[in-house]
Amino acid sequence: MKEVFIVGGGPGGVKLAEELRSLGFESKIYLIEDRFLGGECTNVGCIPSKALFNFSKNFYKTQKIFNTDITLNPDNIFTNIRRVVNTIRKGIEDKLKKLEIDVIFDTAKFNNDKIIIFNKEYNYDVLALATGSYPINILDLVKSDIKDDSKILNNRTLWGDKLKDFLNDLAKGSRILIVGGGYIGLETASLFSIFKKSVFYIVELTDRILFNADKEISNELFKHLNKDNVNIFISSKLIEIKQNNGSYLVIFEKEGKLEQLEVDYIISAIGRKPNLPLELINKSDTNNIYFDNNLRLKGSKKLIFGLGDVTSFKMLAHKAEYQAKIVAKNIVDYFYKNKLSYEYTLNIESLIPGVVFTIPQAAFYGLTEDEAKNKLNNNVIVRKAYFSANPKAIADLDRIGFVKIIYNNLGEILGAHMIGNDVDLLVSVLLSYHSEVVVFPHPTLSEILNELI
Ligand SMILES: Cc1cc2nc3c(=O)[nH]c(=O)nc-3n(C[C@H](O)[C@H](O)[C@H](O)COP(=O)(O)OP(=O)(O)OC[C@H]3O[C@@H](n4cnc5c(N)ncnc54)[C@H](O)[C@@H]3O)c2cc1C
Repeated sequence: MKEVFIVGGGPGGVKLAEELRSLGFESKIYLIEDRFLGGECTNVGCIPSKALFNFSKNFYKTQKIFNTDITLNPDNIFTNIRRVVNTIRKGIEDKLKKLEIDVIFDTAKFNNDKIIIFNKEYNYDVLALATGSYPINILDLVKSDIKDDSKILNNRTLWGDKLKDFLNDLAKGSRILIVGGGYIGLETASLFSIFKKSVFYIVELTDRILFNADKEISNELFKHLNKDNVNIFISSKLIEIKQNNGSYLVIFEKEGKLEQLEVDYIISAIGRKPNLPLELINKSDTNNIYFDNNLRLKGSKKLIFGLGDVTSFKMLAHKAEYQAKIVAKNIVDYFYKNKLSYEYTLNIESLIPGVVFTIPQAAFYGLTEDEAKNKLNNNVIVRKAYFSANPKAIADLDRIGFVKIIYNNLGEILGAHMIGNDVDLLVSVLLSYHSEVVVFPHPTLSEILNELI
């Protein structure tokens, strides 16, 4: 039997190893990781932010139902976030050990048809790239004279070695600029803003937050987030960052006028780029789609697959895991039948849900109302229900939000968009109505069903 080299130990790479074993693949599987098992998601993404989500959600809830003030302890929050991350990482380590996956800690490089690990070249039968993505650096895009960039953070530094100091500074009172009103920027502002002595600003280039979401969701979320100590500037372009002794002076353009803010921290959430190994890709491919529907690297003579963030489009952990299942089946298919039968298409991509873990949460999948109306010449049915009329929401003292479902005139669901408490679970319930593909969002309790169904 042939050997498989998986590069990247994030959700995609780990799931691929697991799936191969569950399909009965018994040969050597090498998994090469250059930072931490669990990848961006477990260490500096989904998991630490959701550990903070737990604090923030309960902070507001407790305050509301007991009508009391709560004193936050930044060290306690820090310790808890770290404990959660370490527990999940350890679980991944144990799982890979049990599955007899050879984990190697190094940066894999590539040379022609070989993979280089610890400066030694190896032939491979199958290579799977689960190399993820990296945050775009704000300092590459704006004018700046910065001498001290120690408080210009991205998700890696924020959830990594700067977290403890950041939490302590928030507790004392700091001014934070978040660049980018996508889901990462919004979660950052919403969750950390429980530190009421601090003030948060979001500068977003487009004319609404969560630009790809349904407009009503963007507007409703804006209404709930843009208050208290969070100030959102839409249609605003960051132009320059100047050093201002211990702080930063940021200049942005809003509707043709220059505005400025003095802040202590800048958090960049302006987007991510696929971490493609440049040695392997065909640079003449200008549309940036490097993998075909079988998730095979286009133009490669050898069997090279991609999965997860490296394949672009929706960069989400549950998408990486779903693609891992396809790649695993294709690998086995290829070895036994010399063909690749399993595909990841744009139709499947449209059923991959997104969840924004802000307070309140938002969740969605499929076409937005505008997209559906454009596509079907307004021939759509939009149904909407509000939590303010739902007995459980009323009992929970949480009446905010609504669920909106868009149908074609055959009664088929084209898209669903919701905002409110616990909509991460509600979107999972609705997804179960689709028989073709059901991908539960990560991290949610619904994922436990993946092991059972
Ligand atoms: C702040 C934040 C919050 C997020 N929250 C969520 C969320 O709630 N839900 C969700 O679904 N998604 C979330 N995401 C997105 C999620 O983290 C990614 O979609 C997911 O991690 C992608 O998995 P992956 O396996 O493709 O890559 P990654 O998790 O990025 O893992 C890739 C790994 O490969 C390693 N690597 C790269 N190149 C090499 C090499 N040459 N040799 C060896 N190792 C290499 C990297 O070090 C990395 O560990 C969040 C992201 C961020 C930044």
